[in-house]
Amino acid sequence: MKGIERITLLGSTGSIGVQTLDIVRRYPERFRITSLVAHSRWQQLAEQAREFGAESVVIGDIRYYDELKEALRDTSTEVLAGSDAINHVAKSYRSDTVVNALVGYAGLHPTALAIESGKRIALANKETLVVAGDLIMKEARRKGVDILPIDSEHSAIMQCLEGERREAVRNLIITCSGGALRDMAREELANVTPEMALRHPQWSMGAKITIDSSTLVNKGFEVIEARWLFDMAPERIKVVIHPQSIVHSMVEFTDGAIKAQLGSADMHTPISYALLYPERATEPQEDFSILDHPTLSFSEVDHAKYPALGIAYECLERGGTTACVMNGANEVAVAAFLGHKCGYLDIVGAIRYALDNASFVAHPTLADYDASNIEARELARRYLKL
Ligand code: NAD
Ligand code: MG
Repeated sequence: MKGIERITLLGSTGSIGVQTLDIVRRYPERFRITSLVAHSRWQQLAEQAREFGAESVVIGDIRYYDELKEALRDTSTEVLAGSDAINHVAKSYRSDTVVNALVGYAGLHPTALAIESGKRIALANKETLVVAGDLIMKEARRKGVDILPIDSEHSAIMQCLEGERREAVRNLIITCSGGALRDMAREELANVTPEMALRHPQWSMGAKITIDSSTLVNKGFEVIEARWLFDMAPERIKVVIHPQSIVHSMVEFTDGAIKAQLGSADMHTPISYALLYPERATEPQEDFSILDHPTLSFSEVDHAKYPALGIAYECLERGGTTACVMNGANEVAVAAFLGHKCGYLDIVGAIRYALDNASFVAHPTLADYDASNIEARELARRYLKL
């Protein structure tokens, strides 16, 4: 049994953050929370800080600093605010592991800093690898830092790869539920509202990733994430539609064997796998019986309905800052769509426009990614007339 592990949790009030705390709560002898970070929900953050006795908390939006400070007045928790403070706790010597459950580009610098200071990373923030996977994985290898995926598909692939030799892997097969609009005809997509796209059939997640799931931008991002995480050529990463979300992903080997990881659509499993690896949770979060799922089906992706998946492969082919542009434009467009400021099809429209007009850096530094992200966001705003 390992000693106590000190955890910094970025994005503690979100969907992954809250479920991460469920796991920490179950293993008090194993984990201790050092720092918690959230964007604006200061009351929830204050409650979490009390329950877990956090040494420090950071509120990303500095407007809530005074309220948070006041709410934790009678505790010894240090209260900080703003993105510099997030970067500070990401690299703080006080923790062994950083769980990055921030959403979007905001997760990149904290991951980079945590790697630089030699911490183990449990990564939910897939945008880190979408934007800068090449750079991040090189740095992680150089520092000898483990990056353990929380994304369910990548957790499944990691589990399938355990004990296998790299040379024997032929393809990674990522499963895709098809998102909230999978039963809708392509011609109907123009009239989709946020409320419709937010109704995910299987997974309960944050708003941005739920919209990304409906456009398949999320699946495209997962292909990019897998490319870097497992150092796999893009043409050997396949996507199949699997509406039941029971098979979380698969690995196909050179002898024709396919290994799959199955289970309930519950993020507690991949979170606990990342946190406890190489051990496993002693009990599941919820009971699951394969007998309740007698039908598992698989089909091909309709690329005419879901152009975003092909765009993600295109980003990998073009390399450099291209995927960063896709991500930046998507963030702006999804926020606009959620705010009823653009139509559903404008999300992919904005991505396409940004990719066709952005400048290109072949071997970007972190500063280049920052510039590319800003440019992509401006291009998306121009396209959407915001
Ligand atoms: P969410 O919106 O529910 O939560 C995001 C969290 O990050 C919140 O605590 C929020 O306060 C914080 N945050 C966001 N922007 C911030 C900023 N600029 N500064 C400080 N804090 C900020 O999102 P989520 O669904 O939990 O997703 C988190 C990440 O995990 C995303 O990258 C997502 O793609 C990935 N992911 C989520 C799921 C899921 O089931 N929710 C599954 C796989 C991967
Ligand atoms: Mg996923």
